[in-house]
Amino acid sequence: MLGINCTVFEQEHFLNERQRDWSFGIYWAQSSLTECIPQSLLSRLNTAQVDPLHPPSPDDFIQVLNGKTTEELKSVPTPNYGKRLSNMWNKETKITATFEDGSELTGDLLVGADGSKSIVRKYLLSPEIAVLQPLPIMGLHATLILPSELAKKMVAELQDQVAVLTLHPAGLCVFFSIHQIPDHERPETWTWMPTMTFRHEGGHDGLTNPAEIRSVWDQYAEKFAEPFRSALLSLPQDAVIWRERLSQWPTVAWDNHQGSVTLAGDAAHPMTYPTFTKTDSDIQFSPADRGQGLNNAVHDAGNLCRALDQHVHDGKPLADVMAAYEAELVERGREAVISSGQNSMMAHDWEQLKLSPLFTQGIAGRGNGGR
Ligand SMILES: Cc1cc2nc3c(=O)[nH]c(=O)nc-3n(C[C@H](O)[C@H](O)[C@H](O)COP(=O)(O)OP(=O)(O)OC[C@H]3O[C@@H](n4cnc5c(N)ncnc54)[C@H](O)[C@@H]3O)c2cc1C
Repeated sequence: MLGINCTVFEQEHFLNERQRDWSFGIYWAQSSLTECIPQSLLSRLNTAQVDPLHPPSPDDFIQVLNGKTTEELKSVPTPNYGKRLSNMWNKETKITATFEDGSELTGDLLVGADGSKSIVRKYLLSPEIAVLQPLPIMGLHATLILPSELAKKMVAELQDQVAVLTLHPAGLCVFFSIHQIPDHERPETWTWMPTMTFRHEGGHDGLTNPAEIRSVWDQYAEKFAEPFRSALLSLPQDAVIWRERLSQWPTVAWDNHQGSVTLAGDAAHPMTYPTFTKTDSDIQFSPADRGQGLNNAVHDAGNLCRALDQHVHDGKPLADVMAAYEAELVERGREAVISSGQNSMMAHDWEQLKLSPLFTQGIAGRGNGGR
């Protein structure tokens, strides 16, 4: 699938030499599985199932019975897809979560990794304090395949990189990244993902009409030089353009109810997807680090694992390890959110951009964003 030449060695002489003598249950790895199997086989995956007529369902479960009495000891659900968290409450050190399907679960720790509009954050801090703060920047994204000649021109602009950022003096940014390369030799097969951002006042509800979105897309696309202009305008009229108001929530500490509820990822530090990475001394442009959100989310996950390891294996109180986890997260998250928001604002103001270290030191020396 990746176009890498490989040879697979297997001791048996043909497929099915051994009788079908084992069953596997594949649960959470299903999403990775789809990346490992070619589409031609993926569509026939059901035929390899024990019951080809039973498509996997979020309601599937495995019963655990008492062998002597057949009394049900436990019904173990296979992945908890389709579980939308709707509410939660604490009782002493326990936390109970309720879901929209009416079910509930009580445990020792709830990790709210439920994205930028986190309901867990609202529980911890109140809806008023936890509310996502809109910025006066709108983002539009689409995916497209370019005709051969145009695709070649775009490839030339990218100078062997996978993305290029174009900043327009009118306060527009377009980040053109390659989304998928099915055939390396034929750019006309590649999928591109342009992300267009621009200043746009108003709250979360602005610019929602698809016709208006398309009109804005075309109007701003016209301002860009070739081949970017044509590439943007080549988006088919019926293509979906996703819109997103850039928003943020500078992280503040929360009461974690004796270590029983916490946050991670965008729930803890929702930020803009910046075009710049700011350090103490410089602002570096790096298309590969276009956003910081996922990187911070993965960092949270690693830290959380270490904290829980200390609780489970070293016997440290949950409240203590969670307090340490959150102290680091709140400081790092707040700084990342604020600098990300500042950088996003700056990127859409040509005058500020020209005065910035990015403009005076960064772009010119780094070509089109060199890594
Ligand atoms: C266009 C774009 C480009 C980006 N590029 C980059 C990049 O290059 N590098 C980078 O580091 N970051 C990037 N980011 C940011 C990155 O995508 C996020 O920071 C990251 O996805 C956050 O992960 P998360 O798991 O915390 O949240 P999410 O990915 O938002 O996942 C939250 C999950 O919680 C589920 N959920 C929500 N509410 C509930 C509920 N009530 N009950 C149950 N489940 C719920 C959602 O369905 C979702 O699956 C980009 C973002 C955008 C929009």
